[in-house]
Amino acid sequence: MQKVFVHKCIIGLICLILAFAASPAGAWADATPVPDETIAVVTPDEPVDDDNETPNEKTPDEEQPPAEEDPSAGDLPVLELPQLADKLTVWLYDPALGTSRKTEVTPVHLAFDGAYLESDVPGMAVSGRTLVPVRLISEQLKAEVVWQKENNTVTIALGGKTIILTIGSNTALIDGQVVAVPDNVSVSLVNFEGVARTMVPVRFVSENLNALVDYDQAQRLVSITPQEVDPDDNEPVYVKPVGQDDYGNLYRRVVIDAGHGGTDPGTNGGGQIEKDLTLAVSQQVRDLLEDAGYEVIMARDDDTYIGLVDRAALTTQYDAPLFVSIHCNAAENAPAASGIETYAAPDDAGDLELAGYLQKRLIAATAAKDRGVKTSRLVVLTHNVVPAALVEIGFMTNAEECAKLGDASYQQTLAAAITAGIEDYFAAH
Ligand SMILES: [Zn+2]
Repeated sequence: MQKVFVHKCIIGLICLILAFAASPAGAWADATPVPDETIAVVTPDEPVDDDNETPNEKTPDEEQPPAEEDPSAGDLPVLELPQLADKLTVWLYDPALGTSRKTEVTPVHLAFDGAYLESDVPGMAVSGRTLVPVRLISEQLKAEVVWQKENNTVTIALGGKTIILTIGSNTALIDGQVVAVPDNVSVSLVNFEGVARTMVPVRFVSENLNALVDYDQAQRLVSITPQEVDPDDNEPVYVKPVGQDDYGNLYRRVVIDAGHGGTDPGTNGGGQIEKDLTLAVSQQVRDLLEDAGYEVIMARDDDTYIGLVDRAALTTQYDAPLFVSIHCNAAENAPAASGIETYAAPDDAGDLELAGYLQKRLIAATAAKDRGVKTSRLVVLTHNVVPAALVEIGFMTNAEECAKLGDASYQQTLAAAITAGIEDYFAAH
């Protein structure tokens, strides 16, 4: 059962703060070689045995922006653009290795305020983000840029706003506030044909400095357009949809929310407690999704109480495009009631689509009574900015169904169906 109430979980917040404190930024600061030296040490001339290279985590195909069906889409400037190579080989500083490594990237064209920008080190797509030399940001946006070698940070200031990026850190400071850097693509050091440049993620930096960034896939053209800054309003003018990269591709990343937990047991029946069953099924869903190549964020992975608003916030926090909550049902006065139903927030097309896939898969897999897709203003759904659904996998007040819910192989059937429903959603987007 899902209770509709709002409860801020202080423990959750403390955990988050501790998580930030334990992020690689801190560990990095101690063990960092001076970046300029690193770049100087590894040059493209240095002989490297390609066969022994550690392969990139992402294949070149994943970094390549997907082909667009309509090349004339959008009203971006029509520019005379030189030929772009499909791929370039650069040396990209890898903070995890503490050295640069040979990396294939997709070069992109850059334009500022409608004019083509030349750059000795080109803009490049890396892990779904476009990096550009920070010099372009300072010269074109007229931002002040300070590189602090001793702590590996670049500070970018414009119009009273300050962004501090640190090499190897997945967070940035914007006006003193900790902000996640999308895809962990932060300030980076790139060496291309012997030229070393400090590179920054163009969309993250530009949009936080009130410039608009457009991407034309057909031309592989990133266009930066400065906006008039209203001194009363320093808010970014554009907010990237949660759970997508700069090219609109969904991250294969899902938040799985095991209902209840800790001091909140949920419903019960047949000697079983809802919070235990939802966790067992959620963990099986997690394993199946991970086997299928998804990243899974568990709202809880043990018997812990987490507030509903905090659960919903996980999608924004981890930039995940999908949220699935798992619960068991109860009807105290109707012990014969049975079956499976899935909830979506009212009038939410994304929720309804996801709920439809989940319900269909669950019914097909279990032959349980189909109670259909329903709508309700549940906190974990209405507070979610991405498609979210809540499955009620069976009634604990129905003795027969409750016994099934405790059966390991039935749990596996439910988990496989939920996984299939999630994959249906990704297949359609
Ligand atoms: Zn529940």
